[in-house]
Amino acid sequence: MKKMKLFSIASLLMLAVACSKIDESKNVITPQNTSSMSINNKTNDELIKSYLTNILSFSPDDIKEEQDFFIIEDDMLISKNDFWTTFKKEDLSNKNLRHRKWFNLVTKTKNIPVSIYPEVNSTWRKAVTDAINQWNRLNGGVKFYITASNQSVSNGINVFYADLGNDKAIAQGELPTGNGNAGSRVRLNRRFVNMSAYCSMVYTITHEFGHNIGLNHTDTYDGTQLYTNNFTCDNSTDANSLMGRYLPPNSCNTFTSCDIKAFLALYPK
Ligand SMILES: [Zn+2]
Repeated sequence: MKKMKLFSIASLLMLAVACSKIDESKNVITPQNTSSMSINNKTNDELIKSYLTNILSFSPDDIKEEQDFFIIEDDMLISKNDFWTTFKKEDLSNKNLRHRKWFNLVTKTKNIPVSIYPEVNSTWRKAVTDAINQWNRLNGGVKFYITASNQSVSNGINVFYADLGNDKAIAQGELPTGNGNAGSRVRLNRRFVNMSAYCSMVYTITHEFGHNIGLNHTDTYDGTQLYTNNFTCDNSTDANSLMGRYLPPNSCNTFTSCDIKAFLALYPK
């Protein structure tokens, strides 16, 4: 894992001034045209990390870094490569512990292909199928289907094993990058290839697919609030939300009623 060099706020702002425009009223770093920015990757990474911590309020302790992406709160992958080109300024005024969403969503398709790599064992494969059935039964504006071939998909989700060291996440899902497709990866932690509780596997995949379509963790300050147009859901926390940050032990939970309303608000039929 790449080790981050800590920048002082002053040096970070100087870098930002050199290659970006700073909205001083909100202290928001908004690079204007990253395709022509002559900044090196490290600076780009620092700017993303600064945005994640200073503006989106993710805790620095909850951000890990790999070469091409950040890992937020153990299981959300954020691609570095096209972060600023697809960046959208969020309305961060409402800091409520409610259902939350990412600034990029799935816009290009209503049917998201899912490729399960050949290495994935039959139990995880079945769990992916059951997770897909759970989502599809909600009858929302996006659905998932498993591709027939063993080829990876460039316009959908790829499910595969990854060596995640001692990471406690059972799996990780990638948030949409802004190209209109779902986030392209679900990484299954190789430490958890064999789990005893099957329903936890289904729960995990269902949760990660939520990230792949742009849902953030419920009852956090991640991203922006996802309004459901339901008074109770918009004004109360949702402790049993399937998009909650922590997986209850041996959880067999499925969507809460507010999970369903949140999904259908984001992706109406
Ligand atoms: Zn998660």
